[in-house]
Amino acid sequence: MKFEKPKLPYGLDALEPIISQETVEYHYGKHEQAYIDNLNKLTEGTKYAEMPLEQVICEADGGLFNNASQAWNHIFYFFQFNPGGQKQPTGRLMDKIKDTYGSFESFKKEIEDAGTTLFGSGWVWVTTDTNGNLAISKGSNAENPLTKGLKPILVIDVWEHAYYLDYQNRRAEYLHKIWDIIDWNLIDIRYINQA
Ligand code: MN
Repeated sequence: MKFEKPKLPYGLDALEPIISQETVEYHYGKHEQAYIDNLNKLTEGTKYAEMPLEQVICEADGGLFNNASQAWNHIFYFFQFNPGGQKQPTGRLMDKIKDTYGSFESFKKEIEDAGTTLFGSGWVWVTTDTNGNLAISKGSNAENPLTKGLKPILVIDVWEHAYYLDYQNRRAEYLHKIWDIIDWNLIDIRYINQA
C-alpha cells in the first residue's frame, strides 16, 4: 500500500489573504509531498506499509516516526480550513470550551499563547480524551498526541514554513488570523466522533 497525499477540497488560492496560494503550493504541494515520499521509501517492503498511518505514528521512531507524523499532521491541518465555514463551535464542543476555558475567546487566546511561546518548530494541538475533556498542548518538531492516546481535534502548524512567506517573523499575527479560515463545523464533527 502506498501512502498518498489527498487532494485539497478547496482551490489553492481559497485561503487568501490569511494563507497565500504561494504558501499552500510550497507547504502542501512540496513539503507535504516530501514527507509522503519519504514515508513511502521508508516503509516499502516493511510491516509498516500495511498499517494505517495513525498506527505507524504510534509504533515507529526516528526518521520513520518523523515523516509519518508530519505526513499525517499536514493533512489534519489543511483539512480543517474552509474560508466560508462556520465561524465558531456549537453544541457539545462549545459547551465544553465554555466549561473549561470560560469563553471561546479565552480558549483561542490560550492556543495563540501556546503557539507564540513554542520555541523553534512544532505544532499546537487541541485534543480530547475518551471522556470528552479538552486540552491544549504544544510539541516540538513532529511530536504527536496520538502517541499518548489523545485524540486531536485541531492543530496549528508553527514551523516557519507555515507562515514565513506571508508573515515573516510575525508568528503571533499568523496565529491570530488563522481563526478566519478554520471551519468549526469540521471541528465540531471531529469532537463528536472522538469524545
Ligand atoms: Mn508544515
